[in-house]
Amino acid sequence: MVKVVEINAKSIIGRSQVYEYTLNPYIGCAHACHYCYARFVKRFMGIKERWGSFVYVKVNALKLIEEEIEKKKKGEVWISGICDPYQPIERTYRLTRKCLEVLLSRGWDVYIQTKSPAILDDLDLLKSYKNVSVFFTITTAEDEIGKIFEPNAPPISKRIEALMILHEEGIKTNVMIAPVLLGSECLPEKLKDYVGSVIIDKLNYHYADWVYKRNGIEWAKSETFFKEKGMKLKEEFEKNGVRCSLLF
Ligand code: SF4
Repeated sequence: MVKVVEINAKSIIGRSQVYEYTLNPYIGCAHACHYCYARFVKRFMGIKERWGSFVYVKVNALKLIEEEIEKKKKGEVWISGICDPYQPIERTYRLTRKCLEVLLSRGWDVYIQTKSPAILDDLDLLKSYKNVSVFFTITTAEDEIGKIFEPNAPPISKRIEALMILHEEGIKTNVMIAPVLLGSECLPEKLKDYVGSVIIDKLNYHYADWVYKRNGIEWAKSETFFKEKGMKLKEEFEKNGVRCSLLF
């Protein structure tokens, strides 16, 4: 059961080190990935609940974005840095869609990052604009491995199906393999025809150490594992003509 709290946020378009801006319609993420770095928001907001068990909904997001877009210099926006914009609550509030409508219609470049096929709800909108790219996070090719690390996120196989649909509909599609998990070897074969670029990263935080330990796979978070796996994936993607960056 996810606790939902409606809040009036002070702002909606924030600065980002990844792109110029970031936009998070929600605080918290019901996908509850064990390795998620975004749980740091609990400390800032004094939230005691378990990560993945709460979502704060910025119900004034549309009003804020309409005000802020008039004042800010046009730039690239990352949706979202610290939540999945298509986590289940989006189907109730549609805040991601409302913000996208404003940004895309004003010509801002938008980069959507998600693990959810629910992005297909907005296919009509995404198809209407050229200034949008989608990054699906696909950390392994195996549903069972995904389930261990990303317990409430949609299955990997469903993400790949959604990615294919977006690609076939002419949307710019990319993949983040971050962090690289076990069972990622055949991702180049599965994804090569459906992605423009791939970004690979290792595990940068220790939140999921207990998951590796409990499953007896601690070797899969070593520097050697990430280096070997990352290099091999990059080689395979590039062999198939897909741009690939290693972030470590
Ligand atoms: S989908 Fe992203 S933001 Fe949500 S819990 Fe997983 S890693 Fe964190």
